[in-house]
Amino acid sequence: MNLIFLVGTAGSGKTSLTASFSRWLETQREDVMVVNLDPGASSLPYAANVDVREYIKVEELMEEHSLGPNGGLMLACDMILDIVENLTQDIEDFTPDICLVDTPGQMELFAFRNTGAEIAERLTDAEKGVCYLFDAVFCRDPLNYVMNMFLASAVNTRFQLPQFQVLSKIDLLKETELNEIVGWSEDQFRLEEAVDLRLSGMNRILSQDMMEVIERLGVEFNPIPTSAKTHDGFNTLYGELQRVFTGGEKFTP
Ligand code: GDP
Repeated sequence: MNLIFLVGTAGSGKTSLTASFSRWLETQREDVMVVNLDPGASSLPYAANVDVREYIKVEELMEEHSLGPNGGLMLACDMILDIVENLTQDIEDFTPDICLVDTPGQMELFAFRNTGAEIAERLTDAEKGVCYLFDAVFCRDPLNYVMNMFLASAVNTRFQLPQFQVLSKIDLLKETELNEIVGWSEDQFRLEEAVDLRLSGMNRILSQDMMEVIERLGVEFNPIPTSAKTHDGFNTLYGELQRVFTGGEKFTP
């Protein structure tokens, strides 16, 4: 079994990609299942095969511990660790070939709390990877693109798993905007040029400094342009997953 965590900033499209890519994988005759790991999700555009909300209810926690919505969500995310064996058992009951895991909407609750990496490690003994989403609409600004590179590097350092990067929601971009972002991922010089030309003051300094740190961390950036709406890029993402996990074969023989 291969298990992929979808990680990205709030609203970057994790839930939509989970729904759309899982359905698309089914059309490729892959045996795929979907896990919702977001205790705060209200409604989901997919039928989760395993859902953390069956074990943890944020509203009950808020009432029981007199917490507000943020406190309740933080506690709920930390509590996933207590039920990780149950979730593992539930996933293993399905024995899928690919398992897509939709992670909490606010990525810091999963990616940057100690419990997140531990949950990722203990959730089944499948071969795992992280799919990091760059929100394309947000990434039109070079500062936000660099910030996403920085966050993806931090996620990479924390999870120590193969990382697949996607540029989500490209159907919302003009062709020139998409070409510009793709250019930044292909050629560091073009990104440096955009930072120089389009940013000023503290934003420019911040971006330049972040780019230096990112270079030292040594993560490669080539996010695959995708759209959960049009399925653009799904074939490329599928190919990349196969290249890393199965040596280019289908997941389900
Ligand atoms: P999450 O918080 O990362 O799980 O993000 P969601 O999947 O909930 O998406 C946030 C918003 O972006 C929703 O309104 C989605 O309908 C929208 N969205 C997500 N992916 C796409 C996409 O590929 N194309 C378009 N047009 N909208 C998208």
